[in-house]
Amino acid sequence: MGLIVQKYGGSSVADAESIKRVAKRITEARRAGDDVVVVVSAMGDTTDELIDLANDITPLPPSREMDILLTAGERISMSLLAMAIANLGVEAQSFTGQQAGVITDDSHGRARIIDVKASRIRQALDAGNVAIVAGFQGVTEHTNDVTTLGRGGSDTTAVALAAALDADVCEIYTDVDGVFTADPRIVPSARKLDRVTYEEMLDLAASGAKVLMLRCVEYARRNEVTIHVRSSFSGREGTLVTDEPAVAEGEGHMEQPIISGVAHDRSEAKVTVVGVPDVPGTAAQIFETVAAAEVNIDMIVQNVSVAQTGLTDISFTLPAVDGPRATAALKAVQEQVGFESLQFDDTIGKLSLVGAGMKSHPGVSARLFAALRDAGINIEMISTSEIRVSVVTRADQLDDAVRAVHTAFGLDSSEGEAVVYGGTGR
Ligand code: ASP
Ligand code: MG
Repeated sequence: MGLIVQKYGGSSVADAESIKRVAKRITEARRAGDDVVVVVSAMGDTTDELIDLANDITPLPPSREMDILLTAGERISMSLLAMAIANLGVEAQSFTGQQAGVITDDSHGRARIIDVKASRIRQALDAGNVAIVAGFQGVTEHTNDVTTLGRGGSDTTAVALAAALDADVCEIYTDVDGVFTADPRIVPSARKLDRVTYEEMLDLAASGAKVLMLRCVEYARRNEVTIHVRSSFSGREGTLVTDEPAVAEGEGHMEQPIISGVAHDRSEAKVTVVGVPDVPGTAAQIFETVAAAEVNIDMIVQNVSVAQTGLTDISFTLPAVDGPRATAALKAVQEQVGFESLQFDDTIGKLSLVGAGMKSHPGVSARLFAALRDAGINIEMISTSEIRVSVVTRADQLDDAVRAVHTAFGLDSSEGEAVVYGGTGR
């Protein structure tokens, strides 16, 4: 007998039928003898619809009210799921993030979990109940304000509860069979990974792979929580995210695969600061300004300055939603820094090739660039880490780029197409 945490995403509880189906799976786990804690997301596209609704009321909803609004989505799914489980003869109780003891900092819309006081959940389990917890939400320590953890935050709730309760495994149920070598919605020949390390999963998530939220992977690595990503629509084994690297059949020996996957990201934009005086200190001024606006940047490229003018261009990428804030802050210091103009481009896409094995294999970038060349795709920016190479392309060429690179690295599956069971991918 053990303790498992199961998390069901929005597409797994999209309607009454789905909720009943998930309830059945939960009761099976419970009847097998395990203690079960379930974390649930809002039904289907509820969160998006609530955001749209708020935006119909005002262009700038106060973040505190936004959080109260959005947490309503998970309250609906948690209570319905508890009813569905009770209907199958298993006792279940649902809890909001606050009731479950999820304590966060006070950054509305992107709060961080600072503690989980899980005594109430423990009590529910000890009394023989399945505990259902609303994902993606918590409460501030001192003011008792309701917070949300950022889009996709239910994964983090699940991992945090698994850590607090010392669960054997945290199962993340989604609408695909696990972590794939690329998004199966774009690359139907993508292959399911049996195992992926925290390190690789962090880079995949940071590079736009949506199957797990970045913070959830960070949390899992820090607390050594084993994650099992799998589908609620099939009985298949999914992908384990752990410390131990996968092994692939090498030439006569077992070796780590070079590449674990190709991630893509459409959510970034590019800012170019044109005509920057090429003297010490200007880059610092520019990026201090962006940092003061609380914008996280990703890639940076500075061109060689033209000798006659002594001016250079600096481009960087950032989340597209932060574009207006960053450019407004930069405009305000234009005279002081002395640059000529600003360009904003939100029609870019980013492709990232990730794999721990690339540390020790030459030629990975060369093969990547050759694949893009053969597909006629222009590269606008490049950045690398030890286990990742990322490039920026035109947004409308991104899908082709992902497919070309996936094939070039021999990642295509020979076992037919990956199944996407549900969800709109919204
Ligand atoms: N319902 C929230 C969202 O869609 C949280 C989650 O699904 O994890 O972002
Ligand atoms: Mg969702």
